[in-house]
Amino acid sequence: MNSITDKPKHFCGIVGIYSHKEMNIPGNLFYPLFSLQHRGQESCGIAYRRHGNLIAYKDVGMVGSVLSHYLHEDHPSFIGIGHVRYSTHGGNKLENAQPMIASCNKGQIALAHNGNISNSHVLKEQLIMEGSILQSTSDSELILHYLAKSKKSGFIESLLETFNRIEGAYSLVMIHDDTLIAVRDPQGFRPLVMGEKHDMTVFASESCALDILGIDHMREVKPGEIIIVNKNGKQSAFLTPGPCKSHCIFELIYFARPDSFIFGQSVHEARKRMGAYLAEIDKTPGDVVCAVPDSGNSAALGYSEHSKIGIDFGLTRNHYSGRTFIQPEPEQREFGVRMKLHPIRAVVKNKRITIIDDSLVRGTTSSIIVKLLKEAGAKEVHLRLSSPEIKCPCFFGIDIPTKEELISNRMSPDEIAHVIGADSVQFLPLEYLKKCVSNPEDFCFACFSGKYPVKVKDPEKRRKE
Ligand code: SF4
Repeated sequence: MNSITDKPKHFCGIVGIYSHKEMNIPGNLFYPLFSLQHRGQESCGIAYRRHGNLIAYKDVGMVGSVLSHYLHEDHPSFIGIGHVRYSTHGGNKLENAQPMIASCNKGQIALAHNGNISNSHVLKEQLIMEGSILQSTSDSELILHYLAKSKKSGFIESLLETFNRIEGAYSLVMIHDDTLIAVRDPQGFRPLVMGEKHDMTVFASESCALDILGIDHMREVKPGEIIIVNKNGKQSAFLTPGPCKSHCIFELIYFARPDSFIFGQSVHEARKRMGAYLAEIDKTPGDVVCAVPDSGNSAALGYSEHSKIGIDFGLTRNHYSGRTFIQPEPEQREFGVRMKLHPIRAVVKNKRITIIDDSLVRGTTSSIIVKLLKEAGAKEVHLRLSSPEIKCPCFFGIDIPTKEELISNRMSPDEIAHVIGADSVQFLPLEYLKKCVSNPEDFCFACFSGKYPVKVKDPEKRRKE
């Protein structure tokens, strides 16, 4: 969990580029990685081929500080991958930063991975029993080990064998010698898009990372699809299909940037619909609608449009406050929120504020936000959440705390309002959330409903992994 914002956290963002003409691949990886910075701020890195060798550079820190030197240097290449990382799984150590590279009997491999291998404990035990020495706690290393161990004759067959034994929610890009490979898990939990422009094929976690390269011809990598790109062109192979599609609804609620298209739909438009439905069911509207920036912005607009209540900036966000130097102690958390968010007294004073946020996890940040608004003179604060009550943990790579820590497992909305000091709290019911997306049957809603799209084996073990 992000200790300051108290939100569910995803793990990573990935980018892969193949160009039929040599170009400064590291420089071209910089911009899409910069666009994906919201998906991971702990470490970042790139890997690319030069004169038949794989070169990798990675460090703890943000894209702007770790990789910007590549904008001023020329590194001609035709293939590269990049990664931004959120660190909870495996810890924030340089050895867990990606891409991960290896030389093995299959050649040189670099891998950047977003997501979570849910049977990693089984795979790890098996590797250790067979004598493998694991150098990191990252799931990506398991993939490299199984690829190296595969006895299949061709690399595509080895890929199919490896990924068909892996369970989980993942998207990844990989360099194998002079070939770029993209893989998406068979249930499509995590997003992955492919775009093409002139001589270039680009894969990225979100469409906003392709937009910055001026790419407008794009499509989703299909669930279970492996796309292989090299000098001979492009080809697809497919993993054994999953039981159903299971797109993570939190990509649309909170994770993705509003200008992205995720799972074939506009993130901004989906969030506006969530806000509109919140307004439709709201029995206690206020005088002014405000968002908790930035993830509440689109839903607040939708709420305002539907309710005809004006929207204003009740809170400003300091985009330069960073996060890593704040420790997760309660008193420091309040200071961290105050550094990040500040009320505009002229907007909130003597008003009944309808404040729109995307989700409520522990409730720790919301109580500070309510306090800030009331200190600034708000007459009433009504908190509206554009998602249902989070009641269950995620076993598919999203960092949500235990059932006991989730405030909605312990309290009703009225009790939560009392504890966080708000005048009322209301969530978007699940049946309304489903109306906000196209093809709701293709989504995972398990952290709200407890209905997991696959049977969860060894849930406790999975959470400790
Ligand atoms: S349980 Fe929730 S967070 Fe996890 S994949 Fe499903 S919708 Fe996403």
